[in-house]
Amino acid sequence: MGYICAKCKKKIREGLRCTYCGSRIILKERPNLSKEISTD
Ligand SMILES: [Zn+2]
Repeated sequence: MGYICAKCKKKIREGLRCTYCGSRIILKERPNLSKEISTD
């Protein structure tokens, strides 16, 4: 399981912040559910 940036939809391995656009709004990568979480 990984994380996906809510803005650019790229995969995030660290799960804390998007390394591409810097967004902290990330989605948990799950088969049937994407839960939005914030690290603020
Ligand atoms: Zn991003």
